[in-house]
Amino acid sequence: MAEFAITGGTVVTPRRVGEADVLVRNGKVARIGRSSGKGGVVPATGLLVLPGAIDAHVHLALPVAGTRSADDFASGTRAAAAGGVTTVLDFTVGEPGVPLPDQIERRLTQAREAVVDFALRAEMVGWTPDRRGELGPAAELGVRSFKFFLAYAASGRRTPLGVLHDAMVEVRKVGGVAMVHAEAEELVDPPGGPFPRARPPLAEEVAIAEVGILARDAGCPTYIAHVSTARGLVALQAAQRAGAPLVGETCPHYLLLDERAYGQPDGHRFSVTPPLRTVADRDALWRALARRRLQAVSTDHCPFTNAQKDPFRDDPARLPSGLPGVETLLPLLYSEGVARGRITLRDLAWYLGEGPARAFGLWPRKGGIRVGADADLVLVDPHRSWTIEAEKLHMATDFSPYEGITLTGRVVAVLSRGEWLVRDGELLAQSGRGEFIPWR
Ligand SMILES: [Zn+2]
Repeated sequence: MAEFAITGGTVVTPRRVGEADVLVRNGKVARIGRSSGKGGVVPATGLLVLPGAIDAHVHLALPVAGTRSADDFASGTRAAAAGGVTTVLDFTVGEPGVPLPDQIERRLTQAREAVVDFALRAEMVGWTPDRRGELGPAAELGVRSFKFFLAYAASGRRTPLGVLHDAMVEVRKVGGVAMVHAEAEELVDPPGGPFPRARPPLAEEVAIAEVGILARDAGCPTYIAHVSTARGLVALQAAQRAGAPLVGETCPHYLLLDERAYGQPDGHRFSVTPPLRTVADRDALWRALARRRLQAVSTDHCPFTNAQKDPFRDDPARLPSGLPGVETLLPLLYSEGVARGRITLRDLAWYLGEGPARAFGLWPRKGGIRVGADADLVLVDPHRSWTIEAEKLHMATDFSPYEGITLTGRVVAVLSRGEWLVRDGELLAQSGRGEFIPWR
């Protein structure tokens, strides 16, 4: 069907919520308003019509700690589709000796099986200023965002501040954005693993403050990954007030879980970096979301199976760190955020749509419901409830940190560029249909 209208639903954008018909033609949104009904009608009365969600932070098939994150591009993006995520932002696999364009080409080959659309950031590992010349060709390939780590010296991923500053000047020149994993290495105790005592809030606060100063000096738009603490938020806002072009994301696990998870039997399965924090941190993050102080809620999706984590339950330094999330992002943020009154529907459309789309050069093609944009839409029944069970989800892991939580609101249909990935609750997604979305 080249043309059809989704009629009678409640259309949600960051500025407006209201009943409207959405006309889809040739994979794009062609009109919002009254539809004539010619070409076919999909009734959506009683449903929410949301922008297809963007998960701005996923790690599919990521080599880590002698193993690999459990989802590849096929399984991870199939799970994404099931949960209403129509665009994922992944990374290249940074290698010191390999030029960025080659890393990008390699990753594009791995991503061929993707079900939903995707974009890439270049992971900057072992970066040195003499490699500046690689940024332009990377940008030509549609990759204008570059991920740096201030932690993980032992695995060679840490970028020293001087090198980061030099790189930020160059990133600004290609019109891109620096993304930073902000934990100050000197304040982290790596043998303590991905647990709160080893990775204190101070490490996050110091790193965000330092990155803010560098970003301000370099004039480089900079995106702080996974802000997890109240102290991190304070540093972020102080940097913004001082004129730094800094934005931040947080993740569902920092909003919904806390450090008490580590005290449970099998608490090691909640290993994630940064670690789960206190209830006070959690509450501060919700308040920041309600005030639109952040740019995105993304998952840092990096699942492992219980069999991958359990052998290292008493060996924190070798325990793989990461949680599954892409499939439950939208349902959790709707149920625990909107339905509980912590954020509004408009906020939801910002954090899963326009916010991340603007941060990473996807706007206006992705992230909103507007004429000319890709028809990436999610229909949610706000009254249906369901219970999270890892074994019924599509992510390639038998663990969910949200096991047993009953949610309000269910994804019933998902469109990507006008194609049905989910219809009447049934997953129709085809491997290989996902497209690379270059940052132009
Ligand atoms: Zn990550």
